[in-house]
Amino acid sequence: MKMSSEWKTLEDVEKNIFECTACPLSETVINKVVRKGSDKPKVLFIGEAPGKNEDETGVPFCGRAGKILDELIDYAGLEDRDWAVINTIKCRPPKNRNPNKKELEACKPFLNRQIELLDPKAIILLGNTAEKAFCPDRKLEWGIPEEINERIVLKLYHPAALIYTRSRIESQNAYIDQNKHLFE
Ligand code: SF4
Repeated sequence: MKMSSEWKTLEDVEKNIFECTACPLSETVINKVVRKGSDKPKVLFIGEAPGKNEDETGVPFCGRAGKILDELIDYAGLEDRDWAVINTIKCRPPKNRNPNKKELEACKPFLNRQIELLDPKAIILLGNTAEKAFCPDRKLEWGIPEEINERIVLKLYHPAALIYTRSRIESQNAYIDQNKHLFE
């Protein structure tokens, strides 16, 4: 694999993702899951790891959690050109377990370069795994933005966590209301 600094475009990154065998998840993956949305987003959502539907289709957030992410995007008033979503790792861990530290580290050059090239105004970490991958030495409060590596970063609930606890959607919407400026 080339050095990530040699990946000049999103297409370079994506080609290297498809060819990657840097961790054992490459042996069980059906489809690598790369990105959905704009290539010049104001807001970049970072999810956790691909699940079953994503593995089968190669599309991020295409199942029930995807519908909840769509609701979040609508609530925030984002147009299609304003947002993109990627995951911390690009291959599904078997049985939907959380990715381990080695897998997160192996996939991090892709995550970092996608962020650099997409160059969003704000990063929304969807859940604790996204936080662990993006800023392993920092613990963020839900809904409280922080500046990390010269970018504004906000941690929200992962949409899958809202499927069975719809009451948390009110909290999530309140976090969005409090941070409207990040979505404008
Ligand atoms: S999860 Fe990332 S590092 Fe591991 S094989 Fe897939 S693309 Fe490569």
